[in-house]
Amino acid sequence: MTSELDLLIDLHIDAERQGPGGDDVTRLAVALAGLGALSGLEIADIGCGTGASTLVLAEHLDARVTAVDFLPAFLERLGLEARQRGLADRITTLAVPMDELGFEPESLDVIWSEGAIYNMGFAAGIRKWREFLKPGGVLAVSEITWLTDERPAELEAHWAEEYPEIATASAKIAILESTGYSLISYFPLPSGCWLDHYYRPMRERFPSFLERHGHSAEARAIVDAERHEMDLYERYSSFVSYGFYIATRTDD
Ligand code: SAH
Repeated sequence: MTSELDLLIDLHIDAERQGPGGDDVTRLAVALAGLGALSGLEIADIGCGTGASTLVLAEHLDARVTAVDFLPAFLERLGLEARQRGLADRITTLAVPMDELGFEPESLDVIWSEGAIYNMGFAAGIRKWREFLKPGGVLAVSEITWLTDERPAELEAHWAEEYPEIATASAKIAILESTGYSLISYFPLPSGCWLDHYYRPMRERFPSFLERHGHSAEARAIVDAERHEMDLYERYSSFVSYGFYIATRTDD
């Protein structure tokens, strides 16, 4: 029997991205962070998946990017794509859990992380990663965020179960400020980042995924859970999105 993790890898490995986002959104965050004019940047892209954002950063910046994920299969895919695009000399992959990073203190100019910090929790992640950033270094993370002060009960109940740390941008910004960061910019991801770049391509992979796994109960359960999440998002997209938070590490 294939494990649930192996099934999830199989469903997501052929995707351009493993969470809501977009190359244009990554470029917007780069511009808001003011990174374009800088040279010799040391960047870590944490929870990079198959590297949608890693590739944009390596292509547009004068930088070396360490692409971190705990799934070696995703990193292999990224390595292949980096070689094909002539970016391999700028990208190093590192297979470690995000809460066990071994970067030197104050060694990074930029910490990037799209759709991944929830795996250790936003507050814990930004606290732990701060020591790796140089003072004045940039943190750019996307994090699931409430867009309104009140939400439909059905949506609240879903996310209370999935990720109780979900909160409004003002609450997330307060956490950044009390953890030694100063906000540069915030914007919510447009719905196309979910529908066009994430859910629709995933929906198109469901038939072949189910076929490969003989329509097993485990594979069907994964598809059903994804469909449920998509359905909720489609009905309630005005209440929830990812927020992109761009901040600098303040001095101690
Ligand atoms: N940043 C990518 C992937 C987002 S999906 C994108 O935007 O497309 C979240 C990623 O975090 C997955 O690739 C998953 O393998 C990785 N991940 C989950 N838990 C992790 C952990 N504890 N340590 C490191 N990576 C983790």
